[in-house]
Amino acid sequence: MTKFNNFINGEWIPADRYIPNINPSDISDVIGEYASADEVATREAIAAARAAAESWAHSTPQERFNILDFIATEIFARADELGELLSREEGKTLPEGKGEVLRAGQIFKFFAGEALRLSGETGASVRPGVDVEITREPVGVIGMITPWNFPIAIPAWKIAPALAYGNTVIFKPAELVPASAWSLVEIISRSGLPRGVVNLVMGPGRVVGETLVSSEQVDGISFTGSVAIGHRIRATAAARGARVQLEMGGKNPLVVLDDADLDVAVNCALQGAFYSTGQRCTASSRLIVTEGIYEAFVEKLTAATAALKVGDARDATTQIGPVIDEKQLQSNLEYVESAIREGGTLVCGGQRLDLEKRGYYMQPALITDTTPDMRINREEVFGPVASVIRAADYDEALTVANDTEFGLSSGICTTSLKYARDFKRKSQAGMVMVNLPTAGVDYHVPFGGRKGSSYGPREQGAYAREFYTIVKTSYVWAGE
Ligand code: NDP
Repeated sequence: MTKFNNFINGEWIPADRYIPNINPSDISDVIGEYASADEVATREAIAAARAAAESWAHSTPQERFNILDFIATEIFARADELGELLSREEGKTLPEGKGEVLRAGQIFKFFAGEALRLSGETGASVRPGVDVEITREPVGVIGMITPWNFPIAIPAWKIAPALAYGNTVIFKPAELVPASAWSLVEIISRSGLPRGVVNLVMGPGRVVGETLVSSEQVDGISFTGSVAIGHRIRATAAARGARVQLEMGGKNPLVVLDDADLDVAVNCALQGAFYSTGQRCTASSRLIVTEGIYEAFVEKLTAATAALKVGDARDATTQIGPVIDEKQLQSNLEYVESAIREGGTLVCGGQRLDLEKRGYYMQPALITDTTPDMRINREEVFGPVASVIRAADYDEALTVANDTEFGLSSGICTTSLKYARDFKRKSQAGMVMVNLPTAGVDYHVPFGGRKGSSYGPREQGAYAREFYTIVKTSYVWAGE
């Protein structure tokens, strides 16, 4: 079995422990054994990133462009192979896996350009003979902690801006998906980047993650993952004065109004709720439907959901891949049971599937007759489970949509400009979609949420610089 090492200070470093990376579509398929770092190795990576920070902060925009462009170009050239690897380890279908890889390439291309575009401002001082200059400088050493559901795109949208704006990186991927992370860093290792600028430290969150978060040598932490871990990280990192950026869960509403195009609405719900096995922080998990279209919508969506083909992520006919692991599958099933216990009606799916290969398969679940106070409508499931809530009219639907501690993404299906406009203005979410699924975003504009979903500056697009740079104001007096 091939062993894959951590990348620390420009070298591939073996570890005492290795963890098998299991294919969720076929648990007899072990993709490889991946190093599991301890605290000592993590501290070495931090020291390497610290030592490289000063010199990298003064690298030219051209050097940064060349490196980011090299990484993007190789990702594009290997999109089929990397996409297949991603599908094999995470369980996304092949088009979803390749799509995510291409997204990573686009992000590196975008930030190659951003390295050239970073500029400051100048202004006149209120004092005579004085000029004022506002510039942006790198923050320094950034620790990145990423989840399993987007194993290459999320690391890309953290590493690319960090490098473009002159920071050094210690990257800790989720333990369930080390292969995409390792492949990305292997490309980065050949990009001409000086040693120590990017370090890969695979290993458990409670060891590698906590060491990064508590180290005085790490100037900023960018985290994507669950609310519980995010809050812990914020408490520790903010207490020592580090920058913190958190992207956490969602309980994203999709409102369907009486005047919606039925096919558009059903397609938005189907795509948003179940594709990528519902394992997206932007998944449409609450479908809030007004009276006049309720019966037709539920009937059509039930038929479409029941027809979804669940199977091996790499089978060309599969529409919905497996759940990531046994623990997540059990949690999904438990949420379905709790919804039924509280009065919901399971209209299709919701069961584990035993297919030819042993994997973590589940038929997508649609639950009707749910109310906003039920657990299924309050907590993030993070699986192929969607609930339907009936609303009397637009006003009630909007109130229900906003009645959540989360605020990542929201959507409305309507042909009314009036309601679309009102929803865009009043929805308490970081991203609002009209006649589109709540999941599925562009790479060149800000990504992030409100309320319990996010903390700190937005990720992606030019807004990423708010986290990865520090503003400096300089005053110059030229003399008499
Ligand atoms: P977790 O919060 O469990 O893990 C996220 C990362 O944190 C992993 O790398 C994990 O490492 C690490 N970690 C675990 N414990 C600690 C710790 N004590 N200190 C520091 N780091 C730690 O989330 P999942 O990976 O299970 O991802 C699913 C969650 O992520 C969902 O709730 C989802 O909503 C959210 N998510 C949010 C997104 C957003 O942009 N808003 C996007 C994608 C997912 P390890 O794997 O080793 O445990």
